[in-house]
Amino acid sequence: MKALSAQLTEWLQKPRKVMITTHHKPDADALGSSLGWAHILRSAGHQATVVVPNDFPSFLDWMPGRDGVIDFEKDPQSAVTSLDEADLICCLDFNDLKRNNEFGEHIAASSKTILMVDHHPYPTDFAQYRYHSVQASSTCELILDLCRDLDWMEHLTADAGACLYAGMVTDTGSFRFAACTPHTHRWAALLQERGLKHHQIHEAIFDQMPVNILRFLGHCFLNRLQVIEAWNTAYLAIPYSDLEAFGVQTGDTEGLVNYALNLKGMRFASVMIDRGPLVKMSFRSKGQVPANLFASTYFEGGGHLNAAGGQSADTLEQTEQRFLQALNLFGPDHLAQP
Ligand code: 5GP
Ligand code: MN
Repeated sequence: MKALSAQLTEWLQKPRKVMITTHHKPDADALGSSLGWAHILRSAGHQATVVVPNDFPSFLDWMPGRDGVIDFEKDPQSAVTSLDEADLICCLDFNDLKRNNEFGEHIAASSKTILMVDHHPYPTDFAQYRYHSVQASSTCELILDLCRDLDWMEHLTADAGACLYAGMVTDTGSFRFAACTPHTHRWAALLQERGLKHHQIHEAIFDQMPVNILRFLGHCFLNRLQVIEAWNTAYLAIPYSDLEAFGVQTGDTEGLVNYALNLKGMRFASVMIDRGPLVKMSFRSKGQVPANLFASTYFEGGGHLNAAGGQSADTLEQTEQRFLQALNLFGPDHLAQP
């Protein structure tokens, strides 16, 4: 369970230099928790910088503080300088330095003090301080808990609230997944009481689709969707040529996997996308179907019970065949009709 260290609380009483980082391909929870925490720290008198391992989707560009974010891939020098100058490293929304790509190697080599704030299962042992709970529906929710535990609620600024709300919305599937609790709703209510314009954030995240992407989705549903009735599973295998033909960018395919689970009766879904060097795979499930077990057993991945990811170095066709074989092994235990 998460617990705030008295030592760290005491240490944060003086102004410090803090570097915040998150997992590669940052999503709304990753970037929202990082920027939200940076705003809170700054309000509390600390210096805070945010370093991302690589680019994030443009539908997150509205987040306050986004302009100051350092991208390690584009500007490794500034990222490493920020790491060198920091008194404390905060690792948010991941629990294994491998998820931080090459920048994670710099962190590992730095022997700096690390605080990890995360809600993914199976944390690895790289942080002196851990604020971790798999019960939390998002890392943004944990940042709010942390803010309360530090007695810093006056530092929960409007900018911080907007960033944190974004991660809460997306990681809970707009407050619908099982992980969304009364506690989650209470935080959302508090942010709204403090003036958060929740509808603007939903619009900023969800109503930004370029027309080529809506057409790409239409193409995927018409030509790429497969349904395996026997295992209550739907999947899409997307060749690289589709990404080129429709001008699909990083982040555009976010959420595609969820449509497969919208189908009646489906309990497991996957999207596999040929990204060139690797096939990137997303898995989603309902109920007790362990998407993370499927990802870690067959596709070098992991994640949460109902949302996981993995990859394959094979071709898309080979990956699809391996997926179907894996499904036949996984299905009898986890996907047979109840
Ligand atoms: P997505 O399908 O959105 O890429 O990932 C869904 C969830 O699975 C995310 O919470 C992410 O943290 C986790 N995940 C995705 N890819 C990997 C991976 O390769 N390894 C691990 N351990 N987790 C992953
Ligand atoms: Mn998260």
